[in-house]
Amino acid sequence: MKVPPLNLAKEYQEIKSEMDSALQSLYQSGQYILGREEQEFEKNFAAKIGAKFAIGVASGTDALYLSLMALEIGAGDEVITTPHTYIATGSAIAHIGAKPVFVDIDPDTFNINPDLIEKAITQKTKAIVPVHIYGMPCDMTKIMAIAKKHKLDVIEDCAQATGAEWQGKTVGSFGTFGAFSFYPTKILGAYGDGGAITTNDQKHADYLKLVRVHSDLTKEYIHKKIGVNSRLDTLQAVILDIKLKRMSEWNEKRIHAAKNYDAMLKEISEIQVPKRPSGIKQVFHQYTIRTKKRDELLKFLKQNEIYAGIYYPLPLHLQPCFEQLQYKKGSCPESEKAAGEIISLPLFPQIQPDEQKFVAAKIQDFFSRDK
Ligand SMILES: *Cc1c(COP(=O)(O)O)cnc(C)c1O
Repeated sequence: MKVPPLNLAKEYQEIKSEMDSALQSLYQSGQYILGREEQEFEKNFAAKIGAKFAIGVASGTDALYLSLMALEIGAGDEVITTPHTYIATGSAIAHIGAKPVFVDIDPDTFNINPDLIEKAITQKTKAIVPVHIYGMPCDMTKIMAIAKKHKLDVIEDCAQATGAEWQGKTVGSFGTFGAFSFYPTKILGAYGDGGAITTNDQKHADYLKLVRVHSDLTKEYIHKKIGVNSRLDTLQAVILDIKLKRMSEWNEKRIHAAKNYDAMLKEISEIQVPKRPSGIKQVFHQYTIRTKKRDELLKFLKQNEIYAGIYYPLPLHLQPCFEQLQYKKGSCPESEKAAGEIISLPLFPQIQPDEQKFVAAKIQDFFSRDK
């Protein structure tokens, strides 16, 4: 048996007829960028997240970058974030000209440790970018309280967490902005690149709709502000709107599959299954276990055609591209330890119980072979 990290072709089969007919009409419409369907998707997406507005953009990276632009963050400013994330979180902050300040994680949730944030705040701090990693919501009660106390903006990086909830409220509806990615492998994935920003602020929404099209909504070629090209294709919006209707059901299947793994793996003392606090809904972009024998286990699984992954092997504060920030090994010890122990098992809505049993049996084999 071969167990892939995800199976998008199988997912397409579930929605094929609806998808094919929607795409046929789109091809015939001649409207391929933004447009009516894109506005419809924005409306539906905002409603799903529980935010007043959603603005479609070209990627999750752009969603972060444009949120920082809207807050006029730049040279001389500092932005607090986690080192345990995809590079885009840090590079968006650096690209805008600000300094990323990395705060270590809580080893149980893999998310930024809210109790360490205040120590990192300086006169220059403008915003906090919490990342809901693996679909696990950050402690938004604590983070929003800190932000309020120090008058900071919060940009939630929701790239891995579309539909996740903290205490009954959907992520992306807490901060000034929620930044989402629709990269194909994400919780809500397009058939190409895409992203969105959610906000409750009309002024911010208007600004984002303007700058994403080089500040020219009417195609008169007069540009009051320096903008960017970061639009969501109509095609992707049509695809996303169809998948959005299935998202809650698919997320429930992810949660169900995670519980299956919990039950299958809990007897293996050499691994730690994902912990989660009460009162949250994690949508399991990844099901990430910890073990001291990570590299050997990864190799063994690969030999058995089980495609596990490491997200991510090197924390951002130690990435070569951030060398000039002068972080040292040991500055974020929990992130560094996690990076050496994490392994994400195949989990996607269409995963079958026999595939999960095979994964669990091979992990069992690996550790008993060792004894
Ligand atoms: C994927 C991802 C991004 C970037 O999204 P793109 O659409 O690939 O640009 C940002 N942050 C996190 C945590 C991600 O997983």
